[in-house]
Amino acid sequence: MATTETIFAVSSGAPPAAIAVIRISGSSAADALMALAGRLPSPRRASLATLRKGDGDILDHALILWFPGPHSATGEDLAEIHAHGGRAVVDGITAALAALPGFRAAEPGEFTRRSVMNGRMDLAEAEGLADLIEAQTDEQRRRALAMASGDVSAQVRQWQDRLVMLAARVEALLDFVDEDDVDDAAATTQLLRDDLAATRLDLMNSVARPLAERLHDGIFTVIAGPPNAGKSTLFNALIQRDAAIVTPIAGTTRDIIEASVQIDGIAYRFADTAGLRDSEDMVEQIGVARSASAMQAADMILWLGSVDDAPDHPMVLRVAAKSDLAVDQSQADISISALTGAGMDALGRLMAQRARHLLPHEDEVAFNRRQHRALADAAAALSEATGQQDLLLVAESLRHGLHALDRITGQADTEAVLDALFGRFCIGK
Ligand code: GDP
Repeated sequence: MATTETIFAVSSGAPPAAIAVIRISGSSAADALMALAGRLPSPRRASLATLRKGDGDILDHALILWFPGPHSATGEDLAEIHAHGGRAVVDGITAALAALPGFRAAEPGEFTRRSVMNGRMDLAEAEGLADLIEAQTDEQRRRALAMASGDVSAQVRQWQDRLVMLAARVEALLDFVDEDDVDDAAATTQLLRDDLAATRLDLMNSVARPLAERLHDGIFTVIAGPPNAGKSTLFNALIQRDAAIVTPIAGTTRDIIEASVQIDGIAYRFADTAGLRDSEDMVEQIGVARSASAMQAADMILWLGSVDDAPDHPMVLRVAAKSDLAVDQSQADISISALTGAGMDALGRLMAQRARHLLPHEDEVAFNRRQHRALADAAAALSEATGQQDLLLVAESLRHGLHALDRITGQADTEAVLDALFGRFCIGK
């Protein structure tokens, strides 16, 4: 194994805590345990040790673990110290480590970065791990864990295999056309083109699926309608706090107020908008224009106006608000009173039903934005390939497609992505 700088970090939460986990990775990781505990425990077994400073002063009684490379999480020699999580203990241990020659504090995500560089996990799996650490809902956790466990990578590998096979068949055909069994060559070429088209379709279908980020960013849901329809009251009821000002004076909400909440495990980003009406007031006019553009960007609209004026949008729910008063509820999708709470649970269920179409399907692999872009590039390369008459150009397009897929798992163009990804990690991960 190549010599690497040895890095260390507190991988558990900030002290004080019951336990602090200090990880050490790199060529000299063994020296850390030798210096602090005076011995190396058996590999992969927790062992109780007395940790001492260089001058013999006892730092702590702690568990130590030793994972020799390359079969460790980072792919290099790795040690862990599970000490008491007090500030002075942690400071004492990290100071002792910093004093060892060739040791330095780890950068954010550096342990995971090393594990990617050493082939212990691929880029898509590392992205899944970043999502897992950030996951707040059950669904986010499930998705992230699936990505971290390699479901994206497995799917991509399948496509890579298919493309490699197609490329091999193109090469074979190129040799074949030199010999002159023209009929046979034409039939084989047609088969190849059919398989190419099928693979392309498969990729395009995946590109058309909702992004994994939707689960984190939330369904962008705009509450719209004329002034005084009860938009701000509904907004506050949905987010369960008074973020928007509610008054009986029309035109109170002049700008867009946004808040993110989870309802029944689904993340939403709600926007309360200015009431849509003709106004002389310049500020209000700007507010109305912003409402219109928010509605355009919306994943879902809760429309509180008359059914006839409902916006033309594929995901609009026509809400009859203030159902505690005598309002016409006949044509609405749902009736609610944000004031009394009537119908609010049903609204949550109806939104969840609609939202499901906007979220990744639970049985399908979900790709994030970066992976989507690479998939779209791969699909475009295959479209190009299907359009080519010259087999040499088909082969070239297939190579582009493969390169795009390689970007997903980190076999190509990795450095820039690594920098962006590991900036998201905390130190010690
Ligand atoms: P917006 O202009 O559409 O945001 O409407 P607001 O939420 O500010 O509400 C306008 C007025 O209607 C306020 O006086 C609210 O208290 C009242 N209001 C809102 N929702 C309800 C409701 O469900 N029932 C009743 N009775 N009044 C409501």
